[in-house]
Order: sequence, then structure tokens, then C-alpha cells
Amino acid sequence: MIVETVDPGTEEVERVAEEYLLRYPDYSGAIALYGEVMKAQQEALEGLECQLSLDEEERQRSLLMGEPLVDPMDVPVERGAFLELFERLTGAVLEGRDSELTVESVLAWPGLGEERFEQTRRAVLEGAELSGDNEWSAEDRNVVSGIFWEALAPFYRKCGSILTFSMEQSMWQRGFCPFCGGAPLMGLFRRDDGLWLLECSLCHSWWNVPRASCPFCDESEGSLKFLYLEQDKGQRAYYCGSCGTYVKTVDLREEDRTTLLPMEDVVTAMLDRAAEEEGLERARGYTER
Ligand SMILES: [Zn+2]
Ligand SMILES: [Zn+2]
Repeated sequence: MIVETVDPGTEEVERVAEEYLLRYPDYSGAIALYGEVMKAQQEALEGLECQLSLDEEERQRSLLMGEPLVDPMDVPVERGAFLELFERLTGAVLEGRDSELTVESVLAWPGLGEERFEQTRRAVLEGAELSGDNEWSAEDRNVVSGIFWEALAPFYRKCGSILTFSMEQSMWQRGFCPFCGGAPLMGLFRRDDGLWLLECSLCHSWWNVPRASCPFCDESEGSLKFLYLEQDKGQRAYYCGSCGTYVKTVDLREEDRTTLLPMEDVVTAMLDRAAEEEGLERARGYTER
């Protein structure tokens, strides 16, 4: 079976963001911002090319070994194109924020310079704190790290879409992305066949996992458990009793609507809080080759 990841494109992002705004007025600020982020990413994606290739034998070998196709640091990121998107995203994010952080101060940060760029990329991918050669608060550093992550995404998306094209899904049933090893951002149960699809938090590729056991550990027995909030029974946090890892999943079997999982992630922030209160941990980071 082949699972195709579809890039929404800017118009679809705009249209679906409108639907989310009507449905989740309490999250209007976050939806509008994330809509801008996604639109900028979709536009950037159109101008990118993937400078990475793998031969078919290597591809099959990795998947059979249960290793993602690439190490995320090996995905080429052209700094010029990156900085263009990064600047646009920084403007969008800082516009609505009450903070000391300015676009100028972020862009002047040496961590973006040629010498330190790869080091910064590694820190962002690993979720490590950015280096402290600035006056930023810990919260501001997290914001910059988040913007950096979002500006990386199209480069990963571009290569991921080419290198996982027509991948046989039965070869990969794990809790991390077959292309880059990234943790899932969220999942969905597909409308027609109930297939559980996860979307990578970094390259946004989709892949399929079985519903009967935990995709994150080998310890789980029986089916996964889930929790949900009374007002939104279609959005659930599926978790494993053994390892305590969860992934939010939206059930589209009963409900026909268009979803963008990055936006769905934004409007289900309360579900994360409920899961954390239960002592559960969200799937994060990436799994190395
Ligand atoms: Zn990925
Ligand atoms: Zn588990």
C-alpha cells in the first residue's frame, strides 16, 4: 500500500484556516499566525529543489533495517533561501508578541551566520537550548528555536516528498518518520478506511502505523489507550501504558472535514495539557539512523 502525502499549497491553507477560525474562535490569534507560517512554507517549497539522492537498494536496506532514510543533518539546507524564509517567519511571529525581541536583533544573531549555522541547526533539531551569546530570555530562545524549526521544514519536506515517493508502507510501521526519523506531529484516522496515519513534525511526510500496538516501544501489550476532552471527542491523545508516550490523533471516520494537522495541533493545546497532567509524554525529537 502506498500513502501519498499531499502538500496543501497556499490557497488551500488560506481556505482551511478560515474554517478553523470559525470552528475555534478561542484560538483565532494562533490560527491566524500558523496560517501565515504555513503559507510562507508552501511558497518557499515551490522554489526549492532537493540536492540529495539515494539509490533504490540503499533505500530498501534502510527501511528493512528499521532506519530512517537519512540523518536529518545530511539534508542540504541552502542558507540563503533558509534566511529569506526565516526572516519572513520572524516578522510574522514577533508582530503579535509583546517581547523585547525584535526582528533586527534576531537577524543579527551570530548563530545564523555561516560559521555557526550547522551548529544551530543541530541544537534546534535536538531540542537543545540555543547558545547564550545574546540578551534573550529562555522563553525568547525557545521562540527563535521554534521559528528556526519552521524555516527548516520546507527543505525537509522537499527531499522527503521525493525520497519517500511510492514507498511501500508495509515496510515501515514505526513511531518515527521513515524519511528523517522525526517524531510525529499528530495523526489522523483516515475517513474511508480508518487507516492510522502520522505526520512527521519535521518533514511533514505521512506514514501508516498499526492501531493495535504502541508505535514507540516494543513493550506494549494489547491496544493503546486514549483520552479526550468532553467537548471534542473526535480529537484524542493515544498513549501507551508501558512507555507513556502519546500522539494526538483526529478521527475523521465519523466527521467529514478538511484538516491541516499542524493547525489541528494548535487547536488541541488543551489535550496536550490533559495528557501531561496524566504524566504522559508527547513523542518528540528524532530517531537517529
Ligand atoms: Zn520526517
Ligand atoms: Zn509504548
